[in-house]
Amino acid sequence: MPEWKCSKCGYTLSAEKPPGECPSCKEKCEFVDVSCYIPDCAQTGSDPRLK
Ligand SMILES: [Zn+2]
Repeated sequence: MPEWKCSKCGYTLSAEKPPGECPSCKEKCEFVDVSCYIPDCAQTGSDPRLK
């Protein structure tokens, strides 16, 4: 499942689609896909370069 990060507060969550409203800052933030698709980050499942 993709991992999404709020560009405003940095909140991350796993979901099929990014939420319309951030559960953390309660605003319509832009969510960026921080899912990791390379084997290097199999440990965390997310890309450290995007955190
Ligand atoms: Zn947020």
